[in-house]
Amino acid sequence: MHTRSLTAGLLVAGMLASCQTRRVFADDVGPVRVGVVWYDVGLPSACRVDVDVVEKELRAVFDAMGVVVDWETPDGAPIDDRGRTLMIAVPDDALGRPLLLGATIRGSRRSWVFACAVARELARPTRRAPSRASLSRAVGRVAAHELVHVLLPGLPHAGSGLMAARWYPHVLSGATLFADPATRLAIRRVALD
Ligand SMILES: [Zn+2]
Repeated sequence: MHTRSLTAGLLVAGMLASCQTRRVFADDVGPVRVGVVWYDVGLPSACRVDVDVVEKELRAVFDAMGVVVDWETPDGAPIDDRGRTLMIAVPDDALGRPLLLGATIRGSRRSWVFACAVARELARPTRRAPSRASLSRAVGRVAAHELVHVLLPGLPHAGSGLMAARWYPHVLSGATLFADPATRLAIRRVALD
């Protein structure tokens, strides 16, 4: 879930400038909508997820930020994103980075969630494989983190919550996960662009 955020200072400066010059506030513009296309590739049975649970968890995180997710699950990989974000569940990071639970190519609308890495992280405290329901919920949270990277490619990681750079098992499995105030505000401002 790490992405490079080297321009954080510039982004903050830009946000402050837009606060001063625009007289429209994010809360005035109604719900923000984002399109997500979800599919998985090659998940072994131990890392397979319940897509309905993934969707429900991702929606819950974004609902709390005032963002409505338009969710699609095609039979195969779509050719064209048509303005939507493609989210692909795969077993592990093809680049072999062991600490990553998900990844987004900065500036693109394409994210990956590493379902087997999420399962291993969930199993770390108890040494027991997670249930499909808890794995699916955790995968939905990782997907939500990556979707924020897609929508706000310059936003730096937060100190805690949804956009923290590093997650521990309790973040994957604990009570409802929320984004920090700066992330929530930035997401709402997407509607003004
Ligand atoms: Zn991240």
